[in-house]
Amino acid sequence: MRPFVYDRATSADLAARALASSANAAPVQGRVPAEYLAGGTTLLDLMKLDVMQPARVTDITALDARHGTIAVTDGGLRLGALVKMSAAADHPEIVARYPVLAQSLTLAASAQLRNMATLGGNVLQRTRCNYFRDTSWSACNKRNPGSGCAALDGVNRQHAVLGASEACIATYPGDFAQALMALDATVDVAGAAGPRTIPFAELHRPPGSTPHVETTLAPGDLITSLSVPAGPWTRRSLYLKVRDRQSYAFALASAAVALDLDGGVVRQARIALGGVATTPWRAREAEAALAGKPVTEATAADAARIAFAGAKPREHNAYKVALGQETVARALLQAAALEG
Ligand SMILES: Cc1cc2nc3c(=O)[nH]c(=O)nc-3n(C[C@H](O)[C@H](O)[C@H](O)COP(=O)(O)OP(=O)(O)OC[C@H]3O[C@@H](n4cnc5c(N)ncnc54)[C@H](O)[C@@H]3O)c2cc1C
Ligand code: SF4
Repeated sequence: MRPFVYDRATSADLAARALASSANAAPVQGRVPAEYLAGGTTLLDLMKLDVMQPARVTDITALDARHGTIAVTDGGLRLGALVKMSAAADHPEIVARYPVLAQSLTLAASAQLRNMATLGGNVLQRTRCNYFRDTSWSACNKRNPGSGCAALDGVNRQHAVLGASEACIATYPGDFAQALMALDATVDVAGAAGPRTIPFAELHRPPGSTPHVETTLAPGDLITSLSVPAGPWTRRSLYLKVRDRQSYAFALASAAVALDLDGGVVRQARIALGGVATTPWRAREAEAALAGKPVTEATAADAARIAFAGAKPREHNAYKVALGQETVARALLQAAALEG
């Protein structure tokens, strides 16, 4: 691990201003040379692997009292960015009223990691592409802009079939983000110019020609909380995750689904896909195809086909199209069978 300056934030606004000025002062290959430290389960890993080399690390865990709480009201849910994954996954009201959120967290990582890792850090975790995490591979546009992409013609079994570019085909690896995406969450940010709120759907950027720029956050921006509006679809919601083994593995394909039904007919469907795309992926055309119809084997399969209509598989990941479709169809049928 390389040497770095460690400091501890005492206020979100001060931290955002300090980190922004430090990040702007010394850019390294266009990357932010300063990082926040929450649970450390992604950041420290990547620093040890020399993938991330921040000159400064600002520990935000002391902001826990203000940004580590969960509030549930009739209008929705507010989750502090420093809430631990396990605390949100086990929260009785989240389990009962927002099952897709609780399930996406319970099915992620291991119990030890969930006890350490925070929600803010979770949505900002980086890809698990092996070429990105192993610095002995020189060609990785995400790690080293302009160097190429070893995965295009390499081992790309884990990689994305949706949202990829010729510069990067890495998947977004998290689970919770799909649930937030399906429920139209928003992100509260403390920035150098003050606080602001952005739709969760605008947090992650598709790779395009700049895959190293992964989010719309500015240098120093600190996520303070995530808000999820209440809706008639939140109770009838679930997260279905398919992986290589039953626990402790990232998704090969996943679906976060929420349904508002009127006598068995879909008033509104929400579908977000994981494991198959470069960003948390909302399948809006598939949602629209279900409106006004009952959820049957046929309508679910049709929606699933539409969700992957734009898929561009590569040599080793073509299986993800069929797997992803099956995952979406099963998730829809299971959600439709739930009590509303
Ligand atoms: C072996 C292993 C298996 C895993 N399996 C899964 C899985 O199946 N599904 C899944 O979803 N995840 C999985 N994870 C990822 C894990 O969930 C994340 O590492 C964790 O959620 C990150 O949270 P953290 O608090 O530790 O973040 P940190 O490591 O502290 O930070 C991560 C990044 O987020 C930034 N950051 C953190 N908090 C904020 C904030 N409030 N505002 C702005 N920036 C911030 C940091 O600067 C850093 O860049 C796995 C991890 C490991 C190591
Ligand atoms: S897919 Fe993206 S992260 Fe993986 S090697 Fe290519 S550029 Fe790097």
